[in-house]
Amino acid sequence: MPGTVAAMTSLDDFARSKLAILEARKERRTLIPTARREGPVLERNGRRYISFSCNDYLNLATHPVVVEAALEALKEHGAGAGASRLITGSHPLYDALESRLARLKGSEAALVFGSGYLANIGIVPALVGADDLILVDELAHACLLAGTRLSGAREIRFPHNDMASLSDSLAKARSQHRHCLILTDGVFSMDGDLAPLPEMVTLAEQHDGWLMTDDAHGLGVLGGGRGSSFAFGPEKLAVPLQMGTLSKAVGGYGGYLCASASVIDLLKSRARSFVYSTGLPPATLAGAIAALDFIAANPEYVARPLARARQFTTALNLPAAQSPVVPVVLGASDKALAAMTALTERGFIVTAIRPPTVPAGTARLRVTFTAQHSEDHVLALVDAIRRDVLVPA
Ligand code: PMP
Repeated sequence: MPGTVAAMTSLDDFARSKLAILEARKERRTLIPTARREGPVLERNGRRYISFSCNDYLNLATHPVVVEAALEALKEHGAGAGASRLITGSHPLYDALESRLARLKGSEAALVFGSGYLANIGIVPALVGADDLILVDELAHACLLAGTRLSGAREIRFPHNDMASLSDSLAKARSQHRHCLILTDGVFSMDGDLAPLPEMVTLAEQHDGWLMTDDAHGLGVLGGGRGSSFAFGPEKLAVPLQMGTLSKAVGGYGGYLCASASVIDLLKSRARSFVYSTGLPPATLAGAIAALDFIAANPEYVARPLARARQFTTALNLPAAQSPVVPVVLGASDKALAAMTALTERGFIVTAIRPPTVPAGTARLRVTFTAQHSEDHVLALVDAIRRDVLVPA
């Protein structure tokens, strides 16, 4: 039909013109096939590299304990869940996984979602709606912002970690709304700094706000592995909604929320990304269980990624790392891309992060450290960055 041809032409024209704009801004993204090898080693185009760009902070994705557990479950239970959890896809391994998560986080209950992204776009709209208020840090992860938009609640973004501004917004806007959700990353994914959770807990309590942290980058590496709510002292902070992912330090896939039993029960019925999406494969659940047991049993190993990050920031005179994520901000996108290329030639994968993932003018190398990076790996990267990236003008 002629109409169809015209539509296809306009669709492709649209895609091509958008791509040209991205190309001009150096923001077009491409995929590079990459295979994980042992520890921090990656393989690309037949060459091996040391990666400083994986979120697998404990290298558990390839750890024999985790791989064996997943393999056993794969053989015994098959490759897929077969249905959403509310139909027939809630494998008994879910109970074991959710009770471990709740124990680790000191919460009454936990709920596992298909991914961290799915968790956030399900949790937020299930808790707040049109009459409600969301206060969210401007640098919070894209999926918290997506959940916020989906909820239909009034959104106020506060400047990054600015507690005076958060307090001001609460004082001005809270009373006009029924419920109020305060959203932040526990560890900011592109900056590696922590949210000031003790202050946020106090503000939330003063204004009857429900505080929710996205601890994707805190679980397994901060607070003895228990996450950012435990990183400010031995006592757990009163964060009633602790969300996270199983795709980073836990080395697998899936998202979760730790909360009270009543909140978890509500989400089982109301979080649309939970209700209408297929359960995780049993092997993924078994791998995560083995990983969480490993985390609980190995506090010294768990402390290593942050120690390596601190070694790096000390050597380069950068502000002390607060987490295993360290930004080296370079400004323009092409500067960050050139730095990435130079480091690749030296055998390191350190990915350039560009707008819109980070604000314009703050393109950067995002360097992540893992338990199996040796001190020598870190020293070699420092040396390469001194030679090729932070060259004095
Ligand atoms: N929150 C944060 C802070 C993240 O960095 C990510 C992953 N990039 C997610 C949520 C999404 O988690 P997942 O990869 O499990 O969907």
